[in-house]
Amino acid sequence: MAGADSTLPFRQFVLKVHSRCDLACDHCYVYEHADQSWRGRPAVISPETVAKAAERIADHAKDHGLPAVRVILHGGEPLLAGAHRLAAISRELRRAIEPSCQLDLRIHTNGVRLDAEFCEVLLANRVMVGISLDGDRAANDLHRRYANGRSSYDQVLRAVGLLRQERYRGIYAGLLATIDVRSDPGAVYHALAALEPPNLDFLLPHGTWDNPPPGAGTPGVTPYADWLIAVFGEWNSSGRRVPVRLFESIIATSLGGVSGTESLGLAPSDVLVIETDGTLEQADSIKVAYDGAPATGLHISRHPLDAAAVHPAIRARQQGIRGLSATCRKCPVVTSCGGGLYAHRYRKENGFDNPSVYCADLLKIIGHVRSRLRSPSRAVAAGRPRAHQLAAGHFDVLAAGFGDGEAVTQLITAQRSVQRALLRLLREHAKKGADDRFLAAWALLVHLEKEHPAETGRVLAHPYVRTWAERCLQSVSAAGLPADAGYLAAIVAAVAVRAGAPAAIEAPVRAGYVYLPTLGRLRVGSARTVEIVTGCTGAQVRSSARSWDVRLTGQALSQDWQPVRDLRAGRLAVSLEDTDPYRDCLQWPAAPRLDAAGVARWQEQFVLAWRLIESAYPAYAAGLATGLSTLTPLADRGADGNVSAAARHAFGAVGAALPQDADTLALLLIHEFQHVKLGAVLDLFELCDPADQRLFYAPWRADLRPLEALLQGAYAHIGVTDYWRIRRHRADGPEAVAAEERFARWRVLTAETIDTLAGSGALTPLGTRFVEGMRATVIPWLDEPVPDRAMQAAREWVTSRPSSSRK
Ligand code: SF4
Repeated sequence: MAGADSTLPFRQFVLKVHSRCDLACDHCYVYEHADQSWRGRPAVISPETVAKAAERIADHAKDHGLPAVRVILHGGEPLLAGAHRLAAISRELRRAIEPSCQLDLRIHTNGVRLDAEFCEVLLANRVMVGISLDGDRAANDLHRRYANGRSSYDQVLRAVGLLRQERYRGIYAGLLATIDVRSDPGAVYHALAALEPPNLDFLLPHGTWDNPPPGAGTPGVTPYADWLIAVFGEWNSSGRRVPVRLFESIIATSLGGVSGTESLGLAPSDVLVIETDGTLEQADSIKVAYDGAPATGLHISRHPLDAAAVHPAIRARQQGIRGLSATCRKCPVVTSCGGGLYAHRYRKENGFDNPSVYCADLLKIIGHVRSRLRSPSRAVAAGRPRAHQLAAGHFDVLAAGFGDGEAVTQLITAQRSVQRALLRLLREHAKKGADDRFLAAWALLVHLEKEHPAETGRVLAHPYVRTWAERCLQSVSAAGLPADAGYLAAIVAAVAVRAGAPAAIEAPVRAGYVYLPTLGRLRVGSARTVEIVTGCTGAQVRSSARSWDVRLTGQALSQDWQPVRDLRAGRLAVSLEDTDPYRDCLQWPAAPRLDAAGVARWQEQFVLAWRLIESAYPAYAAGLATGLSTLTPLADRGADGNVSAAARHAFGAVGAALPQDADTLALLLIHEFQHVKLGAVLDLFELCDPADQRLFYAPWRADLRPLEALLQGAYAHIGVTDYWRIRRHRADGPEAVAAEERFARWRVLTAETIDTLAGSGALTPLGTRFVEGMRATVIPWLDEPVPDRAMQAAREWVTSRPSSSRK
């Protein structure tokens, strides 16, 4: 759920440190497209402009309470600024910004100048390095050449070789490749994957409807989709061993998660560009539209960054589905596509109010990826109902929108079976692929479970362990399990640590951390794996360079250890999960690690919210107390934007950005736990016909929704309606009026949606029984008296909904 957005803050800043380039790539958006503003800018950023930019970013982060920001040193070619200047820029940024929030500092380079001196400077200043490389030599040489036509390939490969060395591996961020459909997709993919990038991104070449990239926007042909489908096939059949951001974003958004790239999805843009002369601009890609397109008329010396945040052109890119063309708003893949990159929608006659010039390609590649998504948990759950039938009474109490401790305990038991069935499926694939590491970890897990069933159960029940298992099963290929399956060793290590059992386990390192699910994470730097030796006093973690002691109780022995902390309210304790790598499954981005003050704010609100739920909403309290295990902080989305989410495959976890007050937190918890309960019911029973592909109007969304999502929304809004129904009697004055209006609004819309579900003709017999249970709760609410003024306000709200999204 997300409230109205006001000023959405920037979280990513592209700082142009040098405006010239030593290559002459003919597909470059800075020099080769309509906007030529680089000609009038200083070649190098001045120390004064850097200092002002750092101060403005720090102020912006402080004003919006941002826990972290990302700054990308960019160009032209940023290495032309020289190693000493880059060191000074990095130090200044860290000096000014880090007292306010975490700084994720990056550089994006063509790589040709990257040598050991640069690497040392970037390592010392913790600057992550992304490199542009279009594929194998043949693909790269199509565009990435010096002005005299000479290839840049050998220099770039040497630079990537440096980053792959043990010493620099921790600052290797990944590779970005711009697609040319004349190149061989298989050769491109395998050449890039062989360089083991921590992330690989494929970019569509920039263009517009007036000036389309070769082959794009031509009816009947989809060269970019066809090329990407071929890469997707290679990626799949070779075990998805390299994370490809484009494909992972399509998969994540198709499963209700968040896109990892600005070029796809509905997340609002949060990028601001600061040029070498201090002017503030929109994203570089808009340069392709017309000369001056990225301009805002603002300057770092005269304007705070909020002035850019409310600039109409930037706001236009922050409106999610409301900011898209009518065609996109009705599109079945809009949640994954989001209309494509903003720049690619441009047409002289009507600006950006168009689908992407890549529309046909996007539709095809998204459809292709979606068609390859397996549903492992469905397959597993298909065998579950006989083993885990809910007692009829529990089914009916859940259908009514509630669910006491006993009903939720039955869901927990069923989830345990689903989780174990998923693990067994993984083991079957490991056996087929003779994956010795997985099988060794499995054998240890089986041993630990015999000796320490409680600790094993505790770790396996962690919501994001299932997310991991689901993702691995999605990625099984002819080559066997994906590399991610190695995380089983971390799961086993967490069990051994909890149990105090002796074991020696080699566990994978991800982005500089080794993770122990349910316990926390340890910063270990650039090692690829570590050895975890466990015993009765905790664990010792050893890399080739050093070792760390980890204890579960008492003083933390190392600042590198970041334990999962608990939120407590009376006897209730839930994990405040801000470390787990799989918490990115929620619809909104997860917040980075919270500092102590952030945890204290959560704790304060959690106690108050829980008191309110216990006293005013007992029909939800028992279920929540039994089933809510994990609260994941999400990145907030502005001053009044309440953000919360639950993931279909993360039973027990609710995500939320800390709202303004505890009452709202109570509402978010009730709302999202409805999704958690229904997700577990759907694991047990088919309530909707899965073959039904229709989309339906959902009053809480601007896009049309499939039937199961409509059911989820209606079920969650029983909780929302009930919250306001009770709240109106507990509040006074304007708050009571607002609560009456919201109750009047949501009881009608929820009842209407239940009618839509019941009339869809696509419910199974059990689905019909479930929906009738929902209806039996909501219908009596329609007769409860509400003041005329509130009814009128509710009617006005309903009629103000965008009619284009109504069916
Ligand atoms: S596929 Fe086309 S119509 Fe659909 S959202 Fe993307 S650009 Fe819009």
